Amino acid sequence: SLGPSPERRPSALSVLNTVFGLPSFRGAQAEIVAHVAGGGSCLVLMPTGGGKSVCYQVPALMRDGCAVVVSPLIALMRDQVAGLLEAGVRAAVLNSTLSWSEAAEVERRVAAGELDLLYVAPERLLTPRCLALLERARLALFAIDEAHCVSQWGHDFRPEYIGLSVLAERFPAVPRIALTATADARTRAEIVDRLGLSDSPVFVASFDRPNIRYEIVEKKSPQRQLEAFIAERHAGEAGIVYCLSRGKVEDTAAALVRAGIPALPYHAGLDAAVRSRHQDRFVDQDGVVIVATIAFGMGIDKPDVRFVAHLDLPKSIEAYYQETGRAGRDGKPAEAWMAYGISDIVQQRRMIDESTGTDAFKRVSREKLEALVGLAETAGCRRAHLLGYFGERAGATCGNCDNCLSPPNVWDGSVAAQKLLSCAYRTGQRFGVAHLVDVLLGRPNERIEALRHDTLSVYGIGAEMTDKQWRAVARQLVALGHLAPDPEGFGGLRLTDTARGVLKGETAVWLREPTSGRKARRDRARA
Ligand code: ADP
Ligand code: ZN
Repeated sequence: SLGPSPERRPSALSVLNTVFGLPSFRGAQAEIVAHVAGGGSCLVLMPTGGGKSVCYQVPALMRDGCAVVVSPLIALMRDQVAGLLEAGVRAAVLNSTLSWSEAAEVERRVAAGELDLLYVAPERLLTPRCLALLERARLALFAIDEAHCVSQWGHDFRPEYIGLSVLAERFPAVPRIALTATADARTRAEIVDRLGLSDSPVFVASFDRPNIRYEIVEKKSPQRQLEAFIAERHAGEAGIVYCLSRGKVEDTAAALVRAGIPALPYHAGLDAAVRSRHQDRFVDQDGVVIVATIAFGMGIDKPDVRFVAHLDLPKSIEAYYQETGRAGRDGKPAEAWMAYGISDIVQQRRMIDESTGTDAFKRVSREKLEALVGLAETAGCRRAHLLGYFGERAGATCGNCDNCLSPPNVWDGSVAAQKLLSCAYRTGQRFGVAHLVDVLLGRPNERIEALRHDTLSVYGIGAEMTDKQWRAVARQLVALGHLAPDPEGFGGLRLTDTARGVLKGETAVWLREPTSGRKARRDRARA
């Protein structure tokens, strides 16, 4: 590295100042750099934009030998290396985009000790040729970026990351620093296990993104709600809209364009050339809205994204955090907005049930989904709930989420819950919310008559509430875990073990009253 001999090693701060042009370390960076420069391994959990690169780039230049950075994102590697070269650091990339002779030259420089930092894709690193090369070379450290990609339960699972367990086995003396912005307890445990970090410290930076305002609304007519959200609050601003399917991406983008909003679709079914053209326009032009499946966003560095909108429920709180985290990376106010309804839960459950995963995979996926539904239904602070999921304690109220700005009223919904649960039970636990509401309201239709559900004791017992109110009750009973979509995935709602306590009057059920969009807006205007 920079210092030709151990006695002349540069200090961490001088590397930060002179090489990176940054005045001082931020948050836990100084501590992490000192630990790694001293030869220690660790896991670093830091939100996107928190400054993870400094944590391994500075020690890379303080230690002897070449630092090897494992990253799954070729575009990001290229950008990082370009930046390092500009700063006078001897950095290079080894991946599939290089020609044979270019790769051979990089290998020669590694062997000759002429590189400070080598960025390499995991599948390349794991080739016998590359491992043999590294065994002959002098190594400063391994940095494993996007370390959550080892997690089989995660949304970014990359099978080639599993193989990185060889690093601990074949290079036990070289420090390993794993970095990720995804940090629920399970993912964390998997990273520690796979990368052999059980004896190493974990550095956790705060995951709070205080400039992001969270809002989760009830899905009514999503397209119209989205258009109103953009037109009223983000006209002319850049944003990302996430949808689950390619078809919905196309439809939504087209509808936004009809509404006068410059929107472009982005999904894996589009031509690579079209995709990169749309991505470039989003990054380079002002005020472009990209409508995308989750494939979009990883590795895109656009600081002034003013909103992220979800028209479909993500799979987990980690996915929601990661996707919403693409808003406001410049630190200025930004919004994370989501419209969700009970059909989203049913749809996600069906996708899990129909997936080819193992039973364990399905169970974990269901738990992750339930945790996200809990966030969507909470009457408390969204931020506190979100950070709590990542094991971080936060104040009870943040003042910058829908529930803090306009606290929902809660009411004792125990009797309503009993009626709805009884209705699901008496109709055989096979029906979805639409049918149950018709029975509760005593609204006759052909199906009800054919099934003779109009003769049941629960027929018409819910006439005191509206269709909409009953749907809100059903959704919250699912969120609270008293009702669950049936495992066959036909959309039927079944009682869970905890439903018994509700029916017997032993468990009180507090429900949130729906706040109307207009009231929330008025309160916001006042705030
Ligand atoms: P991450 O990989 O965690 O998303 P980066 O390493 O890309 O974050 O850093 C995000 C931004 O923060 C970069 O623009 C970087 O220059 C800046 N940054 C990182 N550390 C510091 C620091 N100590 N002081 C000022 N800016 C910093
Ligand atoms: Zn809040």
